[in-house]
Parts: sequence; structure tokens; C-alpha cells
Amino acid sequence: MKTAIVTGISGQDGAYLSELLLKNDYKVIGIIRSYNNSNLSKLRYLGIDRKIYLEECDLTDIPSIISIFRRYKPDEIYNLAAQSSVGLSFEQPIGTIAFNSISVLNILESIRIVDKNIKFYQASSSEMYGKVLNLPITEQSPMHPLSPYAISKATAYWSVVNYRESYGLFACNGVLFNHESYLRTQNFFVKKVIHQSLSISKGLMDTLVVGNIDIKRDFGYAREYVKPMWAMLQQSRADDYLICSGASVSLREIIYFTFDKLNISHDHLVSDTSLFRPTDIQDIYGDNHKAKSILNWHYDLNFYQVLDQLIDEEIRNFAG
Ligand code: NAP
Repeated sequence: MKTAIVTGISGQDGAYLSELLLKNDYKVIGIIRSYNNSNLSKLRYLGIDRKIYLEECDLTDIPSIISIFRRYKPDEIYNLAAQSSVGLSFEQPIGTIAFNSISVLNILESIRIVDKNIKFYQASSSEMYGKVLNLPITEQSPMHPLSPYAISKATAYWSVVNYRESYGLFACNGVLFNHESYLRTQNFFVKKVIHQSLSISKGLMDTLVVGNIDIKRDFGYAREYVKPMWAMLQQSRADDYLICSGASVSLREIIYFTFDKLNISHDHLVSDTSLFRPTDIQDIYGDNHKAKSILNWHYDLNFYQVLDQLIDEEIRNFAG
């Protein structure tokens, strides 16, 4: 039986990745910030909360990380923990950049100290590409981060590349584009649109208030996007891969699709310029050929199919 350590286990991807690892007979060690304050509802929703060994660990404290690695002797480490909101990173730039970059460096250095055979996956982000010159984004596209979050992820990305090239670590960047699910927290756009639209359709709210919705993103389904994370660490050679659908949709189209499915008039949509970000990517989508051919990843969902499923799942679970 293989052992995997997953940081950020309480998040959306942590939950779906753990589900996949357990299906593949892994012993899964989940890193949480605190036994008292961690929200394990996503693991409970998938019925896997009792199958995971939880460990409290501050990822800014390298001795704690080393001690956990020595105790569990993991084969693989998946680093998903991060302050993951672009919007919040503009409110907390230093905290975001500090945690999202030093935590990765600490884990890489701990692997180098404890056992260089441990394989490492880093949750990188398409936000790193930022000011886009040419589409689609490929693994060779230049980076130009447009937010503190993107800066933190670019720093972490290059730390991974550097530890691979300098110290020979089996360290991979999965550069994921936006991916959604019922388990997303409500501060993220798609989840907010679905949840608040349902509230409007039930008469519990009147309007959906949004920022700039004339931007486009490449959206996918989280449960499918964790599969290549695992596949990257099963290869004979460590590398970096883009994980994306290959097409972008505008946020406005997502709202209209959701409103139409729930029979809500478009008059319930309100724009608030105070919600606009200081800088934002206008349009972005990626090329997923490398992941599909080398990782044997099958993904052909368009985002409206995903959205349709997510709205149905939200309806089944809606509690107001
Ligand atoms: P998420 O649901 O927001 O989960 C983030 C996880 O990180 C949570 O478990 C959270 O723990 C933990 N975390 C946050 N700040 C922390 C801190 N200071 N110390 C320790 N743990 C902390 O994010 P996700 O959607 O699952 O994304 C997983 C990873 O992929 C993240 O690194 C994210 O940046 C990256 N990513 C996501 C997307 C996407 O579209 N979802 C796209 C590209 C990259 P608590 O529960 O304690 O807050």
C-alpha cells in the first residue's frame, strides 16, 4: 500500500483527490491547520472523512513538516494548501504571497532533507500567465502575473522547477485552470452564481450582485481534474502539465445559462463596479494536448454540461 500526504485536504481538490487516492488503495494522511477549526464537511459529503489520518501542521514551520514526513514515510506528497482566492489576495497581498510561496519551499526542502525519493505535486495555477499575449496558453507561454495570488503561485512554480533541476527531486507542477464543483466555497464565482440564483428562484434573495462579468475563463470539473494530479506522479519522469478544457466562456454566459435553467429573469442581475478587481485577465484558455497524450487523461466536457450537473447537485442539497 502506498502512502500519500495531502495538504489542503479540507478544500475542494483535497476532498476529490483523497477520494481518488482511497479508491486506488492509498493510505491518505491529510494535513490540516488545526484540529479545532478545520472544516471537514467536504470530506464528510464524499463519505471519506473517517478513512483519512489527519495531522495538524503549520506549513510555515519546517521542523513540523520534517517530523510528519519522518513519521509517515510518504511515497507521494500533494500540496494543495494555499490562500486560493485571487480577490482576497488583493486584500491580503503579503499574507498570500508569504504563505503560498514559503509553504512550498518548506515542503521541497523537507523532501530534500528526509528522502529525495518522495514524489511531489504542486497545485499551480493558470493565473500565473496573467497578461496573455497569445492563446491558447501552452507549457511554454511566458508568465506575467496580475495579482498577488498569481505572484505567489509563480514563485512556488519556479521553486518546484528549481528543486527538480538542481537537486533531482521528482517534483511536478500541475497548472490547473479554473475547475468547479458542488464543493467549491461560496466566495468563488460559479458556486456563488448557482447558490444565489437558487435563492432568488425560491424568493429568498432578490438580486445577484456581480463585478466584471465580461471576462472569460477556461472552466472544468474538479472531480475530473484531480485525475491528472495523480497521473503526474505515476510517470517515470517529473514534468509540468497544463490541465484545462481548451475553451473559455464568459462569466455573463454562465449567469444567463443558470438564470435560464432556473427560470429567472435577467433583470435580477446587478453590476457593482466596486467588485471589479484592480487588474484582471480578460480571456484565457489553455492547450491540454500534453496532459492528454502523456498522462492519458480523457476530458471532453464542455462547461455547460458541467454547469448543468452542478446546478442539479445544488438543487438536491439546497438548504437555503
Ligand atoms: P480551496 O477549496 O480554497 O482549499 C484550499 C485549502 O488550503 C484548504 O484546505 C485550506 O484550509 C488550505 N489553506 C488555506 N490557507 C492556508 C494556510 N494559511 N495554512 C494552511 N492551509 C491553508 O482550494 P481548491 O479549489 O481546493 O484548490 C486547491 C489548490 O489548487 C490551491 O492551492 C489553489 O490555489 C490551486 N488552484 C485551484 C484552482 C481552482 O480552480 N480550484 C485553479 C488553479 C489552482 P482551511 O480549510 O483550513 O481554510
